[in-house]
Amino acid sequence: MTEMRTLKVALLGCGNVGAQVARILIEDADALAARTGARLQLSGIAVRNVNAPRDVDLPQELFTTDADTLVKDADLVIELMGGIEPARTLILSALRNGACVVTGNKALLAQDGPTLYEEADKAGVQLSYEAAVAGAIPILRPIRDSLSGDRITRVLGIVNGTTNFILDQMDTTGAQFSDALAEAQRLGYAEADPTADIEGHDAAAKAAILASLSFHTRFALDDVHCEGITSVSAGDIAAAKDAGFVIKLLAIAEKLTGADGKEGVSVRVHPTLLPREHPLAAVRGAFNAVFIEAENAGELMFYGQGAGGTPTASAVLGDLVSAARRLVLGGPGRTETTTGHVPALPIDAATTSYYIGLDVADQPGVLAKIAQLFAGHGVSIEIMRQTIHRDAESNVESAELRIVTHRASEAALAATVEAVKGLDVINSVTSVLRVEGV
Ligand code: NAP
Repeated sequence: MTEMRTLKVALLGCGNVGAQVARILIEDADALAARTGARLQLSGIAVRNVNAPRDVDLPQELFTTDADTLVKDADLVIELMGGIEPARTLILSALRNGACVVTGNKALLAQDGPTLYEEADKAGVQLSYEAAVAGAIPILRPIRDSLSGDRITRVLGIVNGTTNFILDQMDTTGAQFSDALAEAQRLGYAEADPTADIEGHDAAAKAAILASLSFHTRFALDDVHCEGITSVSAGDIAAAKDAGFVIKLLAIAEKLTGADGKEGVSVRVHPTLLPREHPLAAVRGAFNAVFIEAENAGELMFYGQGAGGTPTASAVLGDLVSAARRLVLGGPGRTETTTGHVPALPIDAATTSYYIGLDVADQPGVLAKIAQLFAGHGVSIEIMRQTIHRDAESNVESAELRIVTHRASEAALAATVEAVKGLDVINSVTSVLRVEGV
């Protein structure tokens, strides 16, 4: 009987995710060997402080601060340090040395992914990053492999657990944004500096990755239009709820025809109204989900934990076993195909439905005036609902109008809203939000 090959695995980082990866590599060594066809030997763990307390009890002799040397002697490198440097240099060094690399570093991929992908292609090794999007959810491999015989037309993702928790909290308790954020921080769902989450930057990095794999074209962070959730008010949430919608921060990548008649991809992150019966509306708390529309497969939904040490370690181990199998069987590693060559469309070219809240004078003829103005701008109204309010002190009546449009371009909508503001019967435009799934 031939002896099983041993592959050396270097682990860079032993924090929330790295410690769990190390634990599973040691505890499940036999099962992983059986699935891989080679023993995966944890050859060392690079950290900043070898004496720092760890979540998991691991052999002290594995720890080192010399990541450079560790990487040079490995068949497989797992990068879970986070940040740009030294992660970037270490990954490039590993790839140039012919090691397959597994990483969960979406910030690095968003900033400098193309350099890393090219280096992996050049070296003929695998660069995998399932953990970088939606934590434990197997989503990148299904897009890259399972759907490679299909054509994806649209991806809608709830890919940031912190913002989903905050919006869900606002929806269920009626809380203001600042109170829901404070609760997320108290429970450990949001960091002390929540900027990357609440401004949508983390979701934008993931949107770029999802769009790149779905449309076989490399999209960079600059191609992603990004709006966070800081301006979503308790009033917006209540009005949406009243109209049968829920507000979610969505990462969207979809194929559209631009103004010049040519196809392109709109990649964007923004708060979005979804009908409460849409599958993504049921994604509560800090959970993640990705909804895919493909020409032949139809609608697919992937749901699960988007973060956390152990769930994310599951995605890392899946990539590791897949890369190790390739080393055992031989053959080049494949990162992604980039044969799509579809351009990124500017946000003006995106077409969606819109929800518009208006505070209007309670006079006869107001509805007709507004409907005429929308029609004049080529924006057709799907739903128009009016609620009358009476101010208890002044006894003056005002009306609130809620409008949901059919799909229209951003440019047409912006022009319509500007024109609406100029009508003498309008007191104020209370909200303008995009709608999906209608
Ligand atoms: P973490 O808890 O902050 O751990 C980072 C680890 O890297 C620590 O062990 C740290 O060493 C080590 N490290 C940092 N800088 C280093 C340096 N310059 N040299 C050597 N070691 C260094 O991070 P994490 O939460 O596990 O996340 C790791 C990666 O996974 C990040 O890219 C993150 O975006 C991604 N990710 C995380 C999650 C999640 O739920 N946490 C989910 C998806 C993806 P010391 O321990 O000595 O300080």
